[in-house]
Amino acid sequence: MKKAGSNPCSPAEELVVYGRRLLSDRLTTGTGGNLSRARREDNRVFLTPSGIAYEQLSAAAISVIDLDGRHLAGEKPSSEWQLHREIYRARPEVNAVVHTHSPFATTFAVLNRPIPACHYLVGVCGGNQVRVAPFATFGSMELARLTVTALGSENCILLANHGLIAVGETLARAYSTALYIEEAAELYWRALAVGEPVILSSEEMEKSRKQLGIYTGKPDINRPPT
Ligand code: 13P
Ligand code: ZN
Repeated sequence: MKKAGSNPCSPAEELVVYGRRLLSDRLTTGTGGNLSRARREDNRVFLTPSGIAYEQLSAAAISVIDLDGRHLAGEKPSSEWQLHREIYRARPEVNAVVHTHSPFATTFAVLNRPIPACHYLVGVCGGNQVRVAPFATFGSMELARLTVTALGSENCILLANHGLIAVGETLARAYSTALYIEEAAELYWRALAVGEPVILSSEEMEKSRKQLGIYTGKPDINRPPT
């Protein structure tokens, strides 16, 4: 195995880069949220460590676990390691998980209210709305189970009274889903403050998801293979 940090494209380096972006894109504050990358060849999961500020994160600190939950290297893994691992177990096509407490998406999570098709970008979640997974204590196996069930085959879900989870084939894809959903959540919040937002029909959303697939070079954005 290559030493963590020796290759600029290593999963650990990628997590450091995207961890910093969480702060600059205002998707989290302090040590909130966490990121992971799966390396399927050897069943390793690279995960941001628990409670370490993203500014202070180094590739050597990135935690490495296997799919059985054994801690192999780096600092103590994120308290949400079971949530990340259960997603990788349930979704073989997923190689990255992004968890944020981004303020606008989390506002709807606090309301236990889905983000409807108020903008075509909501289509990046893989459905017509970003649904809400039931609440369970952070870091618990119960949260992991409830979230995996609620996520199903989609790309994004709100965690009630907590935050958001986005998944993707790559970290870039999972991250951009989290960012677009935060943008849509802010627009929806602003529109609700002024009047009655118009919600796109499922037919329009289906067309938008097809276009998004073409736009991103990934025609299957509609639904990942199940
Ligand atoms: P960690 O620092 O342990 O990853 O916890 C942050 C978090 O968002 C828990 O849900
Ligand atoms: Zn969290």
